[in-house]
Amino acid sequence: MKPLNAVYAGLPTTIFEEMSRRARETGAVNLGQGFPDDPGPADVREAAAKAVIEGWNQYPPMLGLPELRGAIAAHYARWQGLDLDPQREVMVTSGATEALAGALMALVEPGDEVVLFAPMYDAYLPLVRRAGGVPRVVTLAPPRFGLDEGALRDAISPRTKAALFCNPLNPTATIFSDADRALLARVCVENDLVAICDEVWEHVVFDGARHRPLIAEPGMRERTVKIGSAGKIFNLTGWKVGFVCAAPALLGALAKAHQFLTFTTPPNLQSAVAYGLAKEDAWFEAMRADLQRSRDRFCAGLADLGFAVIPAAGTYFVTVDLAGRDEDDVAFCRRLVTDHGVAAIPVSAFYPGGEVTNVVRFCFAKRDATLDAALARMRGV
Ligand code: GLN
Repeated sequence: MKPLNAVYAGLPTTIFEEMSRRARETGAVNLGQGFPDDPGPADVREAAAKAVIEGWNQYPPMLGLPELRGAIAAHYARWQGLDLDPQREVMVTSGATEALAGALMALVEPGDEVVLFAPMYDAYLPLVRRAGGVPRVVTLAPPRFGLDEGALRDAISPRTKAALFCNPLNPTATIFSDADRALLARVCVENDLVAICDEVWEHVVFDGARHRPLIAEPGMRERTVKIGSAGKIFNLTGWKVGFVCAAPALLGALAKAHQFLTFTTPPNLQSAVAYGLAKEDAWFEAMRADLQRSRDRFCAGLADLGFAVIPAAGTYFVTVDLAGRDEDDVAFCRRLVTDHGVAAIPVSAFYPGGEVTNVVRFCFAKRDATLDAALARMRGV
């Protein structure tokens, strides 16, 4: 047989799947892959069940149900002050990962450079490469994980087509500052770049923070692809209902990729998400408050165990610094799952250049009993 595709041939199985598999096999408490152990809002699930029984179960429109596209535009107007045309600027995808893949397939020509920021979600690099793009990675330095203007500008050349930006950032649980967003926007405008923004954590922000989308920065309205995810908003990660918002010229190109990638997304889940996005503000505030309480409970427990906890401003995750231990993150996570029955994620999986090997990520979006059980198992680790 001829050689298989070189991008995929060299890749390991994604760390999230590997850790969840190990947790299932060993009965470990799974604080690795990011998903809540709460069943999610009952009314949203009931809306989906009702739509399965009473609603349309054939192909929905390719760009998404009109009711959901309208609900997305209304939701972003309410929460982020955006003015999006649901007919021409909003598309529904099968999860944010499809939206990202489609955006890269639609925008990148072989040889185009794409700026990425490390730490990065493990799908980004292979997706850029498979689209024929040449990754140019900018490393964000702890503890702020902010942008450095010089490093950003050094990564850009006349061949740069796009920058892929995740805010709030998984795995560091940091939110980019106003100055960082303004800088990135300026650099995109000056260099004629498209910003592909993974904003799936936009609603999961704590301590009174409010998400500010890059598309709202000066000059970005026509050059930003904003990606969101119902899975993260409603704590229903298996649903895989994503959204893409972009100006008509961009969205038209993205739709061409989407039509031959997944084409559509289950209509019943779409109508339940439309229902959910229209929920009152208090529901979203309570969801955040609940997760913030879990964060505080788990972080206090980690600190009691002697871990150096890195503050988490959003997402489902908190990271700890292993500095001072004579073990790297991969060895630590392997020992943690095998000897203590707790699965976590080594953050080196987010650094393709191997720059950081001393940070471990835990998912705290769990019931108190799950967090407490994990902490008890971690005693003496
Ligand atoms: N977004 C999830 C996380 O960061 C993982 C999703 C997946 O497993 N592909 O944990």
